[in-house]
Amino acid sequence: MGTLSGKTALVTGASRGIGRGIARKLAQEGALVAVHYGGNEVAARGTLALIEEEGGRAFPVRAELGVPGDVEALYAQLEDGLAGSSVGPELDILVNNAGMSGSARIHEVTPELFDRLFAVNTKSLLFLVQRGLKNLRDGGRIINVSSAATRIAYPESVVYSMTKGALDTFTLALAKELGGRGITVNAVGPGFVETDMNAGKRATPEAAAQLAGWSVFNRIGQPSDVAEVVAFLASDASRWITGQCIDTSGGSRL
Ligand code: NAP
Repeated sequence: MGTLSGKTALVTGASRGIGRGIARKLAQEGALVAVHYGGNEVAARGTLALIEEEGGRAFPVRAELGVPGDVEALYAQLEDGLAGSSVGPELDILVNNAGMSGSARIHEVTPELFDRLFAVNTKSLLFLVQRGLKNLRDGGRIINVSSAATRIAYPESVVYSMTKGALDTFTLALAKELGGRGITVNAVGPGFVETDMNAGKRATPEAAAQLAGWSVFNRIGQPSDVAEVVAFLASDASRWITGQCIDTSGGSRL
C-alpha cells in the first residue's frame, strides 16, 4: 500500500521531463494517474509504459494548452478515463506542471511571446483549476510547478519568470479560497532540472558545469528530485501545509 492508494491524479505535461517523473512517483505511491500531454504521443506512451512496468496504473489525456477549447478537451478525456476506473470519477490530486520556456531579455520581448507564455504557463492553468474544482474531492491537493526564477533574478527569461511569479500569487490566493474544503494548494520551485526544456543550455561540458554550479550540491537536478517533493505535497502527511512555494532547486544561488 503506497501513500496514495485509492487516489486519482492528473499530471499535466507528464509525457516528458519533470511531469513524467511526477507521474511515475505518484503511480508508484498507488495513485491512478492521468498522463496529460500536448502533442508528443510517443513520449506520452513512454511514460505510460514506464508506469505499467513499475506496476502502476495510468491513462493518457491529450490536449494542447493555451488555445481555445483546451480545458474542455482535457476534462472530457479525463472524465472518460476516470469513469472507467474503480476509484473515479472524482479527482484527488491536480498537478499543474505543463509549461514552456522562452528565453528573452527585456529588449527582446515581443507581444506575441508575452501572450504565448502567459497563455500556456498561467492562463490555461487558472482555467484548468477553475474547471477542475467540480471534479476535485474535498480534502484534495493542488500542486503548481513554479520556478526558482521567482526567487532568483533571471533577466535572461524575464516573461517566463513573470508567468511563474503569477503562479505563486495564484497559489497563495487559492489556498485561502479552498481551505474551507480542506484542499491544500502549494507550489514547488525547481532550479535547473535535466529535461528537454534546457537541453540547449547545457550542450557543452562547460555550460553544463556552469548550470550545475547554481546548486550548492554542484549538480543539475533530476526530475525525481522534484517528484519526491510533489508526492509529499500530494500525501496526507502534508495536510498542514498550504499556500506555500517550496524551493526545490538544490539550494540554487543561496
Ligand atoms: P519539458 O521537458 O519541456 O516537458 C514539457 C511538458 O509540458 C511536456 O509533457 C509537454 O507535452 C507539455 N507541454 C508544454 N507545452 C504544452 C502546451 N502548450 N500544451 C500542452 N502540453 C504542453 O519541460 P520540463 O523541464 O519537464 O518542465 C516542466 C515544468 O517545470 C514547466 O512548468 C517548467 O516551467 C518547470 N520548470 C522546469 C525547470 C527545468 O529546469 N527543466 C526549472 C524550473 C521550472 P508534449 O510532450 O506533448 O510536448
